[in-house]
This record gives sequence, structure tokens and C-alpha cells, in this order.
Amino acid sequence: MNKVLQDSYQTYRPRPFKKDERENVTLLFGGLTWRAERALVGLFEGAGYKAESLPPATRSDLLFGRSLVDVGQCCPTAFTTGNLARTLKDKADKIGPDRVADEYVFVTAGACGACRFGQYHYSYELALRNIGMEAFRLFLVEQHEIDQSKDDDEGFQTDTHLLLGAILSVMMTDVIQDLEYQIRPYEVEFGATDAAIKKAVEDIYDAVRNRPQNKGKLGTILWHLTTDHYAKALRKAKSHFEGIKLDRLRIKPKVKITGEFYVSTVEGDANHSIHAWLEQEGAEVLPAPVAVWFDYLMRFARRKQQDRIGIHKGARKKQLMIELARRLYRGRYHSLCKALGDIPRHLPDQNELARLAQPFYDNRLNGGEGDLLVGKALYAHLHKVAHMVCELSPYGCLPNTMSIGAMAAAQGKYPDLLYAPLEIKGDSEVHVISRCQMVLTEAKARARSEFDAALKAAGLTLEEARARYEAHPEMHDPFWQVPKRGAVGTAANVVLELGGASL
Ligand code: SF4
Repeated sequence: MNKVLQDSYQTYRPRPFKKDERENVTLLFGGLTWRAERALVGLFEGAGYKAESLPPATRSDLLFGRSLVDVGQCCPTAFTTGNLARTLKDKADKIGPDRVADEYVFVTAGACGACRFGQYHYSYELALRNIGMEAFRLFLVEQHEIDQSKDDDEGFQTDTHLLLGAILSVMMTDVIQDLEYQIRPYEVEFGATDAAIKKAVEDIYDAVRNRPQNKGKLGTILWHLTTDHYAKALRKAKSHFEGIKLDRLRIKPKVKITGEFYVSTVEGDANHSIHAWLEQEGAEVLPAPVAVWFDYLMRFARRKQQDRIGIHKGARKKQLMIELARRLYRGRYHSLCKALGDIPRHLPDQNELARLAQPFYDNRLNGGEGDLLVGKALYAHLHKVAHMVCELSPYGCLPNTMSIGAMAAAQGKYPDLLYAPLEIKGDSEVHVISRCQMVLTEAKARARSEFDAALKAAGLTLEEARARYEAHPEMHDPFWQVPKRGAVGTAANVVLELGGASL
């Protein structure tokens, strides 16, 4: 009997990471954009930790991940598992596995639910066993809880101050990324935007690293709601983009990126560098902000409480509290947009996303992105945000497969919607790119005919529009607001503005 108990499956329990080890232990983490990871390194360092982000995940990480855990797992699990395992192995080759186990820990987010996100840590744990590093420590931060520190002696304290700082860090990098993607396609001097974003992210890193220390739970909540600290850092970051000259008469299709959280937000092998590829092909890309995901989680939690009203005591109050938190959260995000001249786009209205998606995808279904992908695609189309929607859907992902199925019905209702569902396997680049190219060709044609229609409405020839544009230096400025005059494309709206017309 004892042998049966000893041999049976035991839940993974890492060795404790104690407070007095902090000075010698580095937190490893990953899975976000380089901008957000740099800000989070600042956050951890400011809180007294040593921190390091994992290197970008590569195709060989994907193959390594598949070789270590089951091959049927979704592609983000394989990428992130292989990425962690490869990094640990590389470190072990240099300093030995025992020192890696003592000197590093891995921190990751987790949740339970219908998708594999709730099982990532099991994949990591299996991978550790398969590379002979069972002694390495993994720690899970529950995504639905704010304050998770249970013991003052714990090495890693996930208190309110740290988690609110993490949310603000991600918000800041979201808004700066949105600015970057609106400027780069139109820059006159090649490379100017990339140089500016590097400096801007360092300003964000400094601000996060040097924020005031913990003021207690209530104090830190109030501070995060009212402080100008983060907006001030963004105003400084903004200065690096000032003076970049833009040619906004370049005709470019706008492509909205949606999809599964990991493959739609990172930029690299994990999504065949689709952001960079689209820009090289002449598109203006609308990246997927992480902040929309948090907003969605709050909307989902509010809906849950709404369904419980009359059944669970206190459900109405909880629903109101969640809605209040959501509004404060959105207000914070929009105040950061203002610090960058209000050029970054505001968060889409979650109620509108849910309303648009509801005929095709019930908003009570969770797992993955729930109804969000259907809602975002329809929102981008109906509100003239983008010419085309590019949905990045990982191989082996049940929730995204459901979204794509629902989108077939949505396209039946909105046949004009240009929608490119791309299955990301990590090792099928030609297939993904050629599919995307087919829809992009149509989006380019739409951007061109919209531009021609704008010239006609404005009563201008291309040469006249160019001459007027040159006579308005303020329009070359990255912080000039392109007016919305009924077109989707930037160049078409600029021409309409020059001619005082609308579509
Ligand atoms: S949403 Fe899909 S791809 Fe992402 S973790 Fe869940 S199952 Fe995997």
C-alpha cells in the first residue's frame, strides 16, 4: 500500500523560496512583448528582486517543447515550455543544474478554465522532469486574485502594490506600442521610430523601477488611482517621438490583429513575425493591447455576478463593485493615452463588443478569449477601424477553433468583412503568410479605391493633395490627430481633411 502511495501522482510542490534568499535568486518570467517585459524587470527590481525576462521564443523552442511534453498541446504551450526549458538548459550548461535550481525561480500567471492556460504549469513541470531539473522552482500567480501573499517569509510577495504596478506597467507599454505602430509606417527617415521606442521604453522602465514603495493596501490603491507618476513618465517618453516627420499620404491598408492572447501579442517566431511582415508589405498594423484582455475579464466577472442576482446573497453589490473597478481601470488607461497626446486608441467599449458578438458567440462561454475575438472583428469592421482583421489562432486551441467557427456565421451576415483566420503552428510559415497575403491584397485594393474616392470627394488631384499636405507642416507631426472623416485609411482621411470633405 505504501509503495502504491509513493508511486502515485503527486501534485508539484516547489521547494520554498524564502525572503532571505532574495538577494541571490533571480526571478525569470516571459510571454509578453519586449516592451512589457522590460517594464516588468523594472517593477521587480524596484520591489527588491533580481529579475530577468526569458529570451524571445524561437521555432527551435517550439520543437523542443513538443519533444518534452505531449505533441497535441496548443502551440503557445509548446513555445513557452520549450522556451523555459531551453533557457534553463543553457544556464545549466554554464553554471550547472544545481546552481540554476538555487539561483533562479520562474514566475508565471495561471488560471483554471476551459483552455490549456490552466495547465501550463503542468507542462512546465513535466518538461523540468524530462530535462532532469525537477529541483527547479516554478511559482504560479493566480490571474483572478489581487493579493496573494500568504506568508511574510515568502520570497516572492504578490501583494496589491506589485500587482497594480504590473497592470500599470502593461498599460504603459500598450499605449506606447500603439503610438509606435501608428508612426512607423509613415516615418520619412527609416529607423527613427525604432530608435525612439527604445529610449521611450527605458523611460518607462526607470519610472516603474523608481515608483514609491508600498503604502499599504488602501494607500497603494489610492496612489495608483490618482498619481501622475506614470503619465509623467509617458510625457517624457513622448519627447523621443517628437520631431519624427511623417508622410501620411502613403496609402496603406489598416490591419487589426486579434487572436489568442499569446500569439497575438508577442512579436517573433511565435506568430511568424506577422506584425513586421505586414508592415513590410505596406500595411499599418493595429496591435492587440493586453489591456483589452483585463477589461474583458472584468466584464466577464460582472456578467457572472449579474446572473447570480436573486440567487446568491450580495451578488448585486459585487456586480456594482466590479463595474466600478472596471470604470476606474478604463479611466486610468485613457489618462495614459492623453499623456501621449491622445494618439493611442482608447479601449473598445466591452458592452458593444459583447452585443456585437452575442448572436454568434454567447458571452457566458469562457476559455481562451471567449466572445472577444468575434466582437473585436465586428467592431473593427463596423466602426471603420481597419480594412482587414487578421486573427491569429494557435494550432490545438479549442476556444479559438470555436471563434473561427462562429466567424463563419458572422461573415455570412457581413460579407464585406475582410477576415484572415491564420492557424499558427509555428512550423508552417509559408502557409500562414500566403493565406494572409491573399486577404491583404484585397485590403490593399480597398485602401486604394477608398483613397481615390477621397480625392474625388475632396475635389483634388494627387498632386494638389500632395502640395497642400506639404504646406501644412503640422500634419507631418506624429502628435497631430488624423480626423475621422468617414474613411478607414489614414491617407484617405488626410485627403478629406485637406479638401474639407467627408465620405
Ligand atoms: S486559448 Fe488556446 S492557445 Fe491559448 S492557452 Fe488556451 S488552449 Fe492554448
